[in-house]
Amino acid sequence: MTTVDVLIIGGGPAGLSAALHLLHADPRWAARLLVLEKAHHPRPKLCGGGLTPIGKNALRRLGFPWPLPLLQVPVFTGRFVNGGDVVTLQSAEPLFTVFHRPELDAYLAAEARRRGVMLQEGVAVRRLLPAPEGWRVLTDAGEYRARVVVGADGSRGITRNAVIDRRRHHAAARLLESITPAPEDDRLPPNTACFDFSAVRRGLQGYTWRFPLRLRNAPYRNRGIYDARIARKAPKAPLPALLREAFPDLPPPQGHPIHLFSPFQRLARPGLLLVGDAAGADPLFGEGIGPALAFGEIAAAAIAAAFRRNDFAFRGYRRRLLASPLGRYLTLRWAVAWWAYRLAPHRAPRRVIWWIAHALAAYANFRTR
Ligand SMILES: Cc1cc2nc3c(=O)[nH]c(=O)nc-3n(C[C@H](O)[C@H](O)[C@H](O)COP(=O)(O)OP(=O)(O)OC[C@H]3O[C@@H](n4cnc5c(N)ncnc54)[C@H](O)[C@@H]3O)c2cc1C
Repeated sequence: MTTVDVLIIGGGPAGLSAALHLLHADPRWAARLLVLEKAHHPRPKLCGGGLTPIGKNALRRLGFPWPLPLLQVPVFTGRFVNGGDVVTLQSAEPLFTVFHRPELDAYLAAEARRRGVMLQEGVAVRRLLPAPEGWRVLTDAGEYRARVVVGADGSRGITRNAVIDRRRHHAAARLLESITPAPEDDRLPPNTACFDFSAVRRGLQGYTWRFPLRLRNAPYRNRGIYDARIARKAPKAPLPALLREAFPDLPPPQGHPIHLFSPFQRLARPGLLLVGDAAGADPLFGEGIGPALAFGEIAAAAIAAAFRRNDFAFRGYRRRLLASPLGRYLTLRWAVAWWAYRLAPHRAPRRVIWWIAHALAAYANFRTR
C-alpha cells in the first residue's frame, strides 16, 4: 500500500494543473503528491482543442512559454451563424488557440514530470472508500491511502458520483466530432472558427463547429456538434442527422458526453475535491480545457490552506471557486445557457438574443480597432 498526502486521480489538464500549481507554490510538494492516470500519454481524447485565454493565463502563471512549443492555430476571428445572419467577432489577441488534444495533454504531462510531478500512467482507479484519515483508493495496481483526493478524472470518472447528487445535478451535454484533412472546397478563412447555431430552431441546444487545426504540419479541420440539453424535457435533437446536413463529407463521428457546471452543486466533501470536467464544464459552449487548467490553481490553493490549518473539510472550496474569475466565468456562461437554450427555439426571443449578440460583437470589434 502506498500512502501520500495528495492523490490526484486523472492526468488530464485539470489534474496536471492542480499538481503543477502545488509544486509552483512549494517544490516540496513533489514528494507529497501523486497523479494516477489510467491511460498512457499521448492518449486519444475527443475534443475541439480550443484553448481560451482563461487556460492560457493559468499556464502563463506557471511559467509556460507562449505560444506553447506545439503545432497550433490561433483564432482571431469567430463567426457566429444563425441561418442567413452572421455575427463576426474580431480580436487582436487570439480568441482561442486550437491544439490537437492528445499532443497538448502529452506535452503538459511531460512538462509536469520534468518539473518533478510524480505521474503514474496505466493505473486505473476502481473505487474510493472513506477512511478515518482521508481516503482509501483502490486501483488495478493495488491500494493507495491519501489525506486528500483530487477528482480530476473527467466526465466519465468515478469521483463525481462520490460528491455530486446526481438526482439534482446531472445535466450532461452530448457532443459528436470528427477530425479530417481540410476539404478542398472548404472556404474557412485563415485563423477563423465558425459556430453555427442555425439548428437551434430544430431543437438543438447548441451549435455545430468548424475549427482550423494543424496536424502533421498539414491543414486539418475539427468539426462537430454540441447539444447542451439544458431544457431536458424538450425532445432530443437528431445530432448525427444535423451534423451530416452541416458537413455532408464528414466521416462517421465519435461521441462523448460532458457534465455541465452548475453554481448550485457541491464541489467537495471532506478530503475530496473536484476539478475540471469532474466538477463540470461550461454549459454555453461546452468549453472545458481552459476552465480545467484554472480549476487546478484554485484546488491547489485550497489544498495548501487545508494542510496549513489541518482542516480537510473543504467547506469553503465552492465559495472560493465562485468568487474567483473562473467561478464568475462559469456562472455567467451557466446563466446565459440556462436562459438562451430554453428561449432560443421560439422566434421572438431568438431574434432578441441575436440582436444582443450583434451589439456585443460590434462593441468588442470597436474596442479592438
Ligand atoms: C467532442 C468534444 C469537443 C470538445 N471541445 C472542446 C474545445 O474545443 N475546447 C474546450 O475548452 N473544451 C472542449 N471540450 C471539453 C474538454 O475536452 C474537457 O472539458 C477537458 O478535457 C476537461 O479536462 P479534464 O482534465 O477535467 O478531463 P479529461 O481531459 O477528460 O482528463 C481526465 C483524465 O482522467 C483519466 N481517468 C479517468 N478515469 C480514471 C480513473 N478511474 N483512474 C485514473 N485515471 C482516470 C482519463 O484517462 C483522463 O486522462 C470538448 C469535449 C468533447 C467531448
